[in-house]
Amino acid sequence: MKRKIIVGLDFDGVVAYNPARLTRLPIALIKKHLLGIHKVSFFVPKTPLQRGLWALAHESSMFPARGAQLLRDLTSQGVIEAHLVTSRFAFLEPNLYQFLNRWNLRQCFTSITLNKREEQPHKYKERVIRKMQFDYYLEDNWDIVAHLSSAALPTEIHWIYNLLDRNRAFPTKHPYLEHALQEIVKKTHT
Ligand SMILES: [Mg+2]
Repeated sequence: MKRKIIVGLDFDGVVAYNPARLTRLPIALIKKHLLGIHKVSFFVPKTPLQRGLWALAHESSMFPARGAQLLRDLTSQGVIEAHLVTSRFAFLEPNLYQFLNRWNLRQCFTSITLNKREEQPHKYKERVIRKMQFDYYLEDNWDIVAHLSSAALPTEIHWIYNLLDRNRAFPTKHPYLEHALQEIVKKTHT
């Protein structure tokens, strides 16, 4: 019997696909060039209005990523053990579970961790990954991938890129979840 592969997965952009995420790059460029913000920092919504808009932006037009069926198969067969680690804040928890239940994905995950202390996402993920000791972690946000890769974690970071940042060089990058899962299984079992 082969050892189970322990995989941590980000939610938005990895398990769930939102076409609106393509707007992130222009926002990053505006922040960098017009506002002079170079630090890796993330906006934390505080007021009811900000939270409402944030939830709307997250929940609009969300679909399971290409590879959701393979995730269901590999977890039900016991080939991988999947853990969801999302930097979503506590107020988005009902929406998250609603999505997972609706698409029959909740039972795939041995654990589900949200960013309930509202830490900066890159620091939060570094802390959780260090504690959980995954074999692999799948992430779509380049700034977080870059941070985690330089954090000397025991976990191999795999990046799901999008159309706009596809040309960036990275040793373990994939166009979507299905490809990442296939590569991880191949890599571990050969
Ligand atoms: Mg993401």
